[in-house]
Amino acid sequence: MDERQEASRTEDVIILGSGVAGLTAAIYTARASLQPLVVEGRAAGGQLTLTTEVENFPGFPTGVPGPELIGHMRRQAERFGARFLTGDAGACDLKSGPFTLTVDGKVLRTRTLIVATGADARLLGLESEKKLIGHGVSTCATCDGFFFRGKEILVVGGGDSALEEATFLTRFASRVTVVHRRDRLRASKIMQDKAFGNPKIAFAWDSVIQEIRDATRGKVESVVLRNLKTGEAREIRCEGIFVAIGHVPNTRIFEGQMGLDAGGYINTGDGTSTSVPGVFAAGDVADHAYRQAVTAAGTGCMAALDAERYLERTAR
Ligand code: NAP
Repeated sequence: MDERQEASRTEDVIILGSGVAGLTAAIYTARASLQPLVVEGRAAGGQLTLTTEVENFPGFPTGVPGPELIGHMRRQAERFGARFLTGDAGACDLKSGPFTLTVDGKVLRTRTLIVATGADARLLGLESEKKLIGHGVSTCATCDGFFFRGKEILVVGGGDSALEEATFLTRFASRVTVVHRRDRLRASKIMQDKAFGNPKIAFAWDSVIQEIRDATRGKVESVVLRNLKTGEAREIRCEGIFVAIGHVPNTRIFEGQMGLDAGGYINTGDGTSTSVPGVFAAGDVADHAYRQAVTAAGTGCMAALDAERYLERTAR
């Protein structure tokens, strides 16, 4: 195909995002001979690339490193004919089909779109946190809690996620300290009651993490906590930190184009359908409840089948 034909081509399926949801959608649509085009952002591979070991993805009895699992999925999609374009989608027009997407200045057209742009865990923004993520700093207790058996850990945040993670982590950790920036929790009463009644959970109120030590040794050994009311700083020992201060779905370019909920997540109706016929959503971008690799794979598969059926229904 020459460059002019490539520029004027209307794709059957474009998949935005190359995490578990996007790659699963790519495997299914490629096997259905739809030659999907996967637009992978500069942070290709999604949240699994931040996870050291995945032990709960079915089919890997001894676990698998997150980046390796993503690598397998990508090769599997390529084997069936999925194509990949690296770039970030900066704008889209979903008013009528074919839909258009602008990726680094290049305009792409497609009959169906699968949005699998994911959600990013909100982070504290510390330099030491950036260096130790995946090495003692985690944003997913279900994924990484197991590695902290018998250890002292911290959970940051005061919402339902923080308390859910703290409660879950007491199965493994010897002690869990919840660090919250205020003296009152945001979490629901039932979660609060559960956490307050758990002898393994302690609270550090009005506090923020000022620094995580020791980035130079590549592992978490302690943190410096600062009390926002007194200004006092103290160092406490711990071996793991779970940051649970919310997630941000990557839906900025869809604002005003399709139905989003108050948190910015894509509203899905029947299956993976969105408010725009022909546009489907999979993975964490439409899920603030489960957020697991295996559920992302499940909805990626559903979105592929939904797109395939939509194309059959609307074929001239
Ligand atoms: P959230 O409700 O937005 O809570 C985020 C928490 O992180 C808040 O306590 C907030 O402090 C704190 N925070 C935010 N930015 C911070 C920063 N830069 N430094 C320190 N602390 C920071 O988020 P979520 O807990 O992930 O919950 C999201 C939604 O999912 C909620 O609607 C929740 O009810 C729901 N959810 C439900 C369940 C369940 O029912 N089982 C489980 C998980 C989540 P402030 O309080 O001071 O703002």
